[in-house]
Amino acid sequence: MELRETIITLSYIASAVLFILGLKMLSKPTTAVRGNMISAVGMLIAIVATLLYQGMSYHLIILGMVIGGLVGSIAALRVPMTSMPEFVALFNGTGGLASMLVGWAEYNKLFGHYEADAVPLVTVIATYLAILIGAVTFTGSMVAYAKLAERISGKPVLFKMQQVVNAAIMAIVLICGAVFIINPDTSLALVLFYVAIAVSLVLGVLVTIPIGGADMPVVISLLNSYSGLAACAAGFVIQNTVLIVSGSLVGASGIILTSIMCKAMNRSLANVLFSGFGSAEGAESTGAMQGEVKALSPEDAYYVLEAARSVVFVPGYGMAVAQAQHACRELGELLEQNGAEVKYAVHPVAGRMPGHMNVLLAEANVPYDQLVEMDDINPIIDTVDVAVVIGANDVVNPAAREDPKSPIAGMPIINVDYARTCFVLKRSMRSGFAGVENPLFFKENTRMIFGDAKATLTALISQFKGD
Ligand code: NDP
Repeated sequence: MELRETIITLSYIASAVLFILGLKMLSKPTTAVRGNMISAVGMLIAIVATLLYQGMSYHLIILGMVIGGLVGSIAALRVPMTSMPEFVALFNGTGGLASMLVGWAEYNKLFGHYEADAVPLVTVIATYLAILIGAVTFTGSMVAYAKLAERISGKPVLFKMQQVVNAAIMAIVLICGAVFIINPDTSLALVLFYVAIAVSLVLGVLVTIPIGGADMPVVISLLNSYSGLAACAAGFVIQNTVLIVSGSLVGASGIILTSIMCKAMNRSLANVLFSGFGSAEGAESTGAMQGEVKALSPEDAYYVLEAARSVVFVPGYGMAVAQAQHACRELGELLEQNGAEVKYAVHPVAGRMPGHMNVLLAEANVPYDQLVEMDDINPIIDTVDVAVVIGANDVVNPAAREDPKSPIAGMPIINVDYARTCFVLKRSMRSGFAGVENPLFFKENTRMIFGDAKATLTALISQFKGD
């Protein structure tokens, strides 16, 4: 083996090890930031090693890197935390597009220069899979982006015979694939190849539009997995080991996260993909809201908190909107100084992306040992004096537990209504992302503190400080 090839191979092995190490570290808040850096270093090594290959058109590569780097850096610097999910959707989409283009370019190269027999079967299959999965990921992610960024309605788009149309398109894709793979070097195969690209692009749109409401996180994670699989297929096409390894890692971690999220919502993946959750009929609340809404001013809430011995903060999407994480931590510290035990309970799908609340709380320097997961807080929540819900709604909605006809029935929630007192900080009685009414607001032990969460927390802090 030539020295250059040895260096490339060793660098690829180092990159793969760093990717795996980085992924492992991402699983804990304490090591996540370093894990991200380690994976980024792995990617840098992989890029440099790839540039060592002979026969590159460096001027085009540098141009691409400058344009891509600039667009990526500016976008990443400007994006607010609340828009992260749609940003991730765009990333997934461009990953899918890149894999599709690699498959397309390699198809032209392979069948323009070789006899059909000279192209290994695995390369032909991988080429087809790269364009198929890449195209579905690209348009599917664009629809997910448009829904999350509210460029189009977030509600599921359902039409008659939808599943039949999707199944027919799948059948076309499979038939085109079979003919293409059996004899890829014919003019018929060429036509079918382009048909497959067009049909896959349409399929990406059709499989994503029926999904809406609270199911978007699962879809983003699934599309993330697809983008990895497309990259892996592209890796087989151009026989690049690091692309195969990194694509497999993204594909596998995406599918693991998808399954964790389905579990957190107590739904099967099939139910998420095909049930049209959040459609007009589905979002109707079935149980009438009973009880009276009791509002409280921050001044009155202060007296309750002042006497509390244990307080649990339960953050949700509204905390991200209000950017209330720093005020939340400050109030937590004041409560501790006042002798209360303080915890922050994080639901797996609180916010708009996996780990959203953990990132915000870490940014505000909330000690990691005060973070508790849903499964750890629920068994002891009836011993808590005050559960303070900060801009959370769906993830604390008792309808999931109490109303078998509710669209979110069975979704595990943080049982804040079992705490002795529950404060809900939000601006109005509006429902959350899933569009489902929340009986928590009407419970006997619930007090609504209306207003922007940061303003309410700041008012509470002032009371504690005696300002
Ligand atoms: P929700 O979307 O259910 O509720 C957020 C609440 O925040 C709203 O009801 C809103 O009420 C309130 N709010 C908004 N702005 C403010 C503000 N400035 N101050 C105070 N309150 C505010 O959030 P949850 O975190 O409870 O649930 C997450 C939902 O999002 C779930 O349905 C989940 O499935 C879905 N989702 C999760 C993703 C993830 O990966 N975590 C990704 C995408 C979706 P009001 O307007 O009255 O103030």
